[in-house]
Amino acid sequence: MPLPDANPSDAERRGPMFPRTTGERGFVYLVGAGPGDPRLITLRGVECLRRADVVLYDYLANPRVVEHAPASAERVCVGKHGRSRIWTQEEINLRMIEEARLGKTVVRLKGGDSTVFARIAEETEALLAAGVPFEIVPGITAALAAGAYAGIPITHRDFASAAAVVTGQEHPEKECSALDWGALAHFPGTLVFYMGVTTARRWTEELIRHGKAPTTPAAIVRRCSLPDQRTLRCTLAEVADRLDPQQGERIRPPAIVIVGHVASLSPALAWFERRPLFGQAVLVTRPRDQAWELEDHLTELGADVLLQPAIEISDPSDWRPVDAALARLDEFDWLAFTSANGVRYLLDRLLATGRDLRTLGNVRLAAIGPGTARALEAYHLRPDLQPERFDAEGLAAALAPQAAGKQFLLARASRGRDVLPRLLQEAGAAVEQIVVYTSTDVAQPDEEISERLVRGEIAWVTVTSSAIARSLAALFGDELRQARLASISPITSQTLRESGHEPAVEASEYTMSGVIAAIVESSTDSPSSTP
Ligand code: SAH
Repeated sequence: MPLPDANPSDAERRGPMFPRTTGERGFVYLVGAGPGDPRLITLRGVECLRRADVVLYDYLANPRVVEHAPASAERVCVGKHGRSRIWTQEEINLRMIEEARLGKTVVRLKGGDSTVFARIAEETEALLAAGVPFEIVPGITAALAAGAYAGIPITHRDFASAAAVVTGQEHPEKECSALDWGALAHFPGTLVFYMGVTTARRWTEELIRHGKAPTTPAAIVRRCSLPDQRTLRCTLAEVADRLDPQQGERIRPPAIVIVGHVASLSPALAWFERRPLFGQAVLVTRPRDQAWELEDHLTELGADVLLQPAIEISDPSDWRPVDAALARLDEFDWLAFTSANGVRYLLDRLLATGRDLRTLGNVRLAAIGPGTARALEAYHLRPDLQPERFDAEGLAAALAPQAAGKQFLLARASRGRDVLPRLLQEAGAAVEQIVVYTSTDVAQPDEEISERLVRGEIAWVTVTSSAIARSLAALFGDELRQARLASISPITSQTLRESGHEPAVEASEYTMSGVIAAIVESSTDSPSSTP
């Protein structure tokens, strides 16, 4: 069985134990997925996932991490934390061994680190006994993630020269506690409790009873490194009430509780929760393969980004007019692009039909805005003209002075406005249009997103074109009123209004960055008005 890596010999060289050679024998990688943010897995962890035939993952491992596995890999949630069926440890061990014996590469993916409160010894002992080779790949454990993402480092030069990780959940069959509460109460450093939410009353009382000061600072960190991370600061004596669903804030697992002076360090260190869009869910509605730019930028700003494409982009129904225009491109003075999609579809077609960029010859290139210009740059091309105002009117105004008597070729979508050709013709140009891609509405919204919208959990919906505006109105109808709409331009705002929706903000620069800037500005202006 060949390894999926581009360079298997490299990958083999890196395998520290039982290096894989022919792949005849099965192999198990026990991989830590990190605390939650899917980007916090190690490179080694990703390498292992890329070669997986089967992934057995815990509920705490972010399913987005599993996406590194090949599409053909079998994905099994062993759901140790609720939801789907909860597998017993025995069942997990058996399945790993069974799959490995079939010669498969198994990734056993665990939340956080693979060895911290992860029952790794039970798994590795079973593998050893069965003669199945394995490798253990570490991950970032929750206590360490809290240092980075909640600004609570568990050691500190002045306040904590030692740290202990403690379980708040002991094996129910244990007769007496394996924890020495006296020693823990007098431990000279930070205590970090894992799995201590439902048992908080018991362990905090034990600590206090054994002499730990009830006023010791404590911090509860829930879902560390995820967009809905929460940090609550209190004292040791208050922890149980804060976590009590009857009185407190209904903090459900997963959460860790950090007890010690470091928990009182300035909240200003908590950079993660202080980012401008932290705590706000933003729905991005661009086609899936074009959403990444908005998605990345919004994520950096702290938003919880959800994706619901409102339109889909595909090949035009007929390439022949495009091919014909490409064959006589030298007849045109200008080739104008009004979207990044137009650039990609036309130039990819040019290349796919055996041509190269020399086909463009001396034709001058016009781009409607910076996104379109960037798409050209990806083909090592620079626009000769880009208007100051990034819409069809702006482009027409910039081209008009040199339009008279000139031949224009417009690369456009299967639908859209006819403003540009009309204005160019009025300025004396000869205009030919070719449809280089088809834009269609998405018919069915994602059920979960629809529900979140109804529950008012989505703060913003980005509306980055008129086609998207129309499709969104059809997809969600009145549900759309539960969120604030961020429109890219006056034209898009107008389309929204025509379908009965008022945008909450409108970009002053008609670009993706402009939309983000408008959201950030509005969020920082009036934090109370955002959910
Ligand atoms: N192997 C994991 C721990 C598994 S035990 C690790 O190294 O992090 C499960 C407990 O881990 C949870 O009850 C919670 O206490 C803690 N935990 C895991 N992920 C967490 C997160 N993102 N934020 C806060 N606590 C987390």
